Amino acid sequence: DIRVRFAPSPTGYLHIGGARTALFNWLFARHNNGRFILRIEDTDRGRLKADSVEQIISSMKWLGLDWDEGPDVGGDYGPYFQSQRLDLYSKEIRRLLDEDKAYYCYCTQEELEQRRQQAIKEGKASRYDGRCRNLAVGEQQSLQKQGRKPVVRLKVPSEGVTVVEDVIRGTVTFDNALLDDFIIQKSDGMPTYNFVCAVDDHAMEISHVIRAEEHLSNTPKQLLVYQALGYDAPVFAHVPMILAPDRSKLSKRHGATSVEEFRDQGYLPEAIVNYLALLGWSPEGGQEMISMEECVKQFDLAKVSKNAAIYDTKKLTWLNGNYIRSIDIDRLVDLSIPFMWQKGLLPEQISPDMRDYLKRVVAAVRERTRTLVELADACSYFLTNDFEFDVAGVKKYFLKEGVAELLQKGRLVLQSLDKFDAASTEAAYRALIDELGIKGADIIHPTRLAISGRTVGPGLFDIMELLGKERTLDRMARAIE
Ligand code: GLU
Repeated sequence: DIRVRFAPSPTGYLHIGGARTALFNWLFARHNNGRFILRIEDTDRGRLKADSVEQIISSMKWLGLDWDEGPDVGGDYGPYFQSQRLDLYSKEIRRLLDEDKAYYCYCTQEELEQRRQQAIKEGKASRYDGRCRNLAVGEQQSLQKQGRKPVVRLKVPSEGVTVVEDVIRGTVTFDNALLDDFIIQKSDGMPTYNFVCAVDDHAMEISHVIRAEEHLSNTPKQLLVYQALGYDAPVFAHVPMILAPDRSKLSKRHGATSVEEFRDQGYLPEAIVNYLALLGWSPEGGQEMISMEECVKQFDLAKVSKNAAIYDTKKLTWLNGNYIRSIDIDRLVDLSIPFMWQKGLLPEQISPDMRDYLKRVVAAVRERTRTLVELADACSYFLTNDFEFDVAGVKKYFLKEGVAELLQKGRLVLQSLDKFDAASTEAAYRALIDELGIKGADIIHPTRLAISGRTVGPGLFDIMELLGKERTLDRMARAIE
């Protein structure tokens, strides 16, 4: 059975890298009819951030990454918070101690540091020297009596190699001599990441561990824990790093990096999922726009690249624009309403008529917008008379000789219309343009500016139809004054 997990530490928002790892696990599970498990790795109490679990969960739900087992939904292998699994870890540590595969180490931080410095001076390896590995019971007791609080270390073979067979990276060999007897339980009694991760992946019957490349160096340690505990190891797949366009480590200065920020900036979950899927993987045809269903159909771990993926917000924004243009209009309206609320463009209660109107407005402006923030902005003059005029546009079109007269003439022909749809307003304007012997642009641009405050947007006559006769005429009158 295919069982995979996403195992975030609740130390902050769900960032792009974490979301990509979650997505690859999810795609792999769905492609194989397996199970996707969410496990919260919260044993490192010092690094926990309040609300982080809620934020991670809400970001995952928003992206559409549902889990079969984990917080909220439970499951047969719970609990899914590591902080609630401490008994299991203690039991396994006890077992390793009893089987002489692990031992108490009483060295203090200062002693370790001193010996480390000494070793460096002598040109020797600076890792833990194994001093407490073979303490006699009496020695242990006397160290204990000094009030020392021991850690527990795993006995790592000093020779040989530990081999990681990675689906993406191939065979990666680690020299055991370069690993030390690492700590599996801290002096405060808390087990460490490499230990609990291995214990849980086994206990939860995880078949494939798919995680970020930065964890590759942990994998030999986890394999040693597997060996010591007599577990079979899962299959490993380390997904490539995500780097900034200049190939540096991704950070705040490269713009938004958390899913939450992207949501607030008006990105669609479809676009983010699509974008993340392409960070290290690409579908058969190499197409850029790909639905989640199609990703599920095609996803193949073996086709994930081992090269770092470059994070390119331009591409994400381009994809976002594509989704804004192509998704179902009702869904687009639903997604954009909060952004309009934010700009104070809509009342809290939206009547059915209002919604109908919104639908038409959104349909008219969606072509030219790339985010929901831009979309809400592009809708603004359809929802309020209180809009700003584009400064460059005013200079270019309003401050020209004879513009007021021209707008006045335009207003008169529009006023005489009974039917006020795009076709009739256009016909009226064309007739006027012919009659005056002017260029269309001479009157169309100032009219657009008068009724929308802008120099770009949907077709002028579509704007007129959406605004209706009264608002169109009022706005033109206002501009002529
Ligand atoms: N809690 C670890 C992290 O957030 C999980 C690593 C793993 O998937 O094993 O990086």
